[in-house]
Amino acid sequence: MSLIVQKYGGTSVGDLERIANVARKIVRRKDQGHQMVVVVSAMAGETDRLIGMAQKISPTPNERELDVLLSTGEQATIALLAMTLQAMGYLAVSYCGWQIPLVTDDAYGAARINDVKRDAIHTDLEAGKIVIVAGFQGVTDAGSITTLGRGGSDTSAVAVAAALKADLCEIFTDVDGVYTTDPHITSKARKLSSVAYEEMLEMASLGAKVLFIRAVEFAMRYRVPVVVRSSFNDNQGTMVTEENPEMEKESVRAVTCNMKEAKITVTGVKDKPGVASNIFSALADAHIVIDMIIQNSSAEGKTDISFTIPEADLAKGLEICRHIQGSLAAQDVSGSTDIAKVSIIGLGMRSYSGVAAKMFTTLAHEGINIEMISTSEIKISCVVRKKYAELAVRALHDAFELDKPKETQTEAH
Ligand code: ADP
Ligand code: ASP
Ligand code: MG
Repeated sequence: MSLIVQKYGGTSVGDLERIANVARKIVRRKDQGHQMVVVVSAMAGETDRLIGMAQKISPTPNERELDVLLSTGEQATIALLAMTLQAMGYLAVSYCGWQIPLVTDDAYGAARINDVKRDAIHTDLEAGKIVIVAGFQGVTDAGSITTLGRGGSDTSAVAVAAALKADLCEIFTDVDGVYTTDPHITSKARKLSSVAYEEMLEMASLGAKVLFIRAVEFAMRYRVPVVVRSSFNDNQGTMVTEENPEMEKESVRAVTCNMKEAKITVTGVKDKPGVASNIFSALADAHIVIDMIIQNSSAEGKTDISFTIPEADLAKGLEICRHIQGSLAAQDVSGSTDIAKVSIIGLGMRSYSGVAAKMFTTLAHEGINIEMISTSEIKISCVVRKKYAELAVRALHDAFELDKPKETQTEAH
């Protein structure tokens, strides 16, 4: 007998028929003799609907009340799933985050999990019940409801699996695993049988929303075995696991793109010590996370600085830069959302050379201009115009032959 934590995303529980389908998958495992804990998201579109309602009242609704509202999405699904299982003759019980409790800090809308209490879940499992837990939500020490950020049900599932020392955490979604790129961008995307925690972490942070980044962080820290698979078929999924030498045989294993970043450019600032510090300290004070930065070479003692931030922070970022524009003696501050970050990822990049050159040449052949570049040991990212993002992904996927299993690949050396 194993303890299995399963998570079903919004599309998988999108209507009552799909909830019944999920219930059948759960009882199949239960009938094999396993203890089952199931984390579910809100029904597809529900979180967006709730946000839309709140924004009709105010463009910036009170963060605490917004989390109270958003948590109702998951609350509805857990009850519907428990009722479905009970109607099938199984013992099932549902829990909101505060009932577990799953304790978080008080960063409403992006709360971090501090603790998952095990007692209630253990008691129910011992009594033979299927335990259903609401994803995406928790509670502060002071008793306020919080949410974990969009896509956060993945984190709930992995955190519950870590706390219970589960044998496996199965993430069921609308694709049957982690692919070499988003299968909705190219039909040539190939399913990977396994990805290393480190690769998945880069993929999640660079735009592959199939797993939420904090869920991967949790899985990596507590070494939780995670498998990503489809709720619509029984195909073998993708294991997220420790790295192995096989994974290093390919230079590039995945291509991602992130369309949700924006660029700010501060032009004509004096090229002297302290300028970058002034800009980025002011942004850090406002909790704006900076991604890529470039500074032009200086001409006549002046230079331009460009950087990228999450699209949602653009208005705030521009306001801050315009506020300090005078003290920087900057000529202009401008912002653009017309950018996308396209990245290639692979553990093997550590040992292959020529990978960056191949990426830049591929983009050049397509006539795509690169506006910014950043690299780390296992990834290279380029900022391009938004309209070229999907073309860039397809071209890179072809150039690195990601549609072919590695035995038949010819790599850049
Ligand atoms: P859920 O609602 O189940 O959490 P998400 O929409 O958050 O599902 O994540 C699944 C989606 O992630 C897929 O439909 C796919 O479009 C997207 N995706 C992006 N990159 C990848 C990738 N490399 N592999 C698989 N799916 C990906
Ligand atoms: N319901 C939340 C969202 O739509 C959380 C999740 O689905 O993971 O972002
Ligand atoms: Mg998701």
